[in-house]
Amino acid sequence: MAVVVVGSLITDIISYVERLPQPGETIRGKSLFIGCGGKGANQCVAAAKLGAECTMIGKLGSDSFSEMHETSFKSLGINFEHVSRTDEAFTGVAQILVEETGQNSIVIVPGANDKLGAENVRKAVALIKEACVVVAQLEVNIEASVEALKLAFTNEVKIIFNAAPAASNLPSEVYQLSSVFCVNESEAEMLTGEKVDSIESADRSAQILQERGCKVVLITLGSRGAYLKDEANNGILIAAPPVKAVDTTGAGDSFIGALAYYMAYYPKLPLQTMVERSCQVAAFSVQKPGTQISFPTKEELPEELF
Ligand code: ATP
Repeated sequence: MAVVVVGSLITDIISYVERLPQPGETIRGKSLFIGCGGKGANQCVAAAKLGAECTMIGKLGSDSFSEMHETSFKSLGINFEHVSRTDEAFTGVAQILVEETGQNSIVIVPGANDKLGAENVRKAVALIKEACVVVAQLEVNIEASVEALKLAFTNEVKIIFNAAPAASNLPSEVYQLSSVFCVNESEAEMLTGEKVDSIESADRSAQILQERGCKVVLITLGSRGAYLKDEANNGILIAAPPVKAVDTTGAGDSFIGALAYYMAYYPKLPLQTMVERSCQVAAFSVQKPGTQISFPTKEELPEELF
């Protein structure tokens, strides 16, 4: 198995409205979209769409939303045998209201994602041992993510740790055990207290993370690209290609999924090249609306990326 993702599966329920309701107010929406999301699931789908052989480790409720995730994953050939179901909570849901101005309000109920335990990750130890890359984030019970880090590290498997959504207090293992520690600007600020608004501040933030034990640090900077600080402490800004973005939702997940793909299938490429290519893939995704649906397949991308 090339890529193992330990992470969240969330059903996005998006209502498009003229304006957001006031407290206590009921309004009529214009249209509805229900789709599969969650950082873990998005990253897994992003890697699978590029052609990676992937396994997902996660937790769903025993409800009809869970079936949508299963159908979608299986259609992409993703190994789903380590996505278990619980009767103790519903499948994670993000209720999203989007008004005409583009302004939104979001409520995420993690539900079953919080029930993913270390024991669920241990059950997949054989797959983790033979994986090229393990990917984990912070949208499931932290014990599951830390177990993934420990198992990958002990078995000398590369791990991309995406410290998202933003959190302030993380256990020391997440810094010390990850091969690549990846955050966006606001997550970097939350962790380090350093406002990331320039190359210098990105470097300072990355430096703080390295002092906590991180090896490679990657800070994604939206349309500006990504700042890479390698194990030798060399920092470089990798520019994103200029494109006309229509929807940047999930750009970070597209980037991480692509990076996992390159680390698994092109391990001899310099890290900088892998990051450049991941920026190209993510730039592709922002030119289409939606999240998983906007992630490009190998066939849609220029040959020089492979
Ligand atoms: P999200 O939370 O929406 O998934 P994020 O905040 O985690 O995103 P970003 O830093 O916004 O992540 O974007 C990740 C990567 O996607 C960037 O490093 C960049 O390569 C690419 N990207 C994002 N926005 C743009 C854009 N407007 N044009 C080109 N590339 C972009």
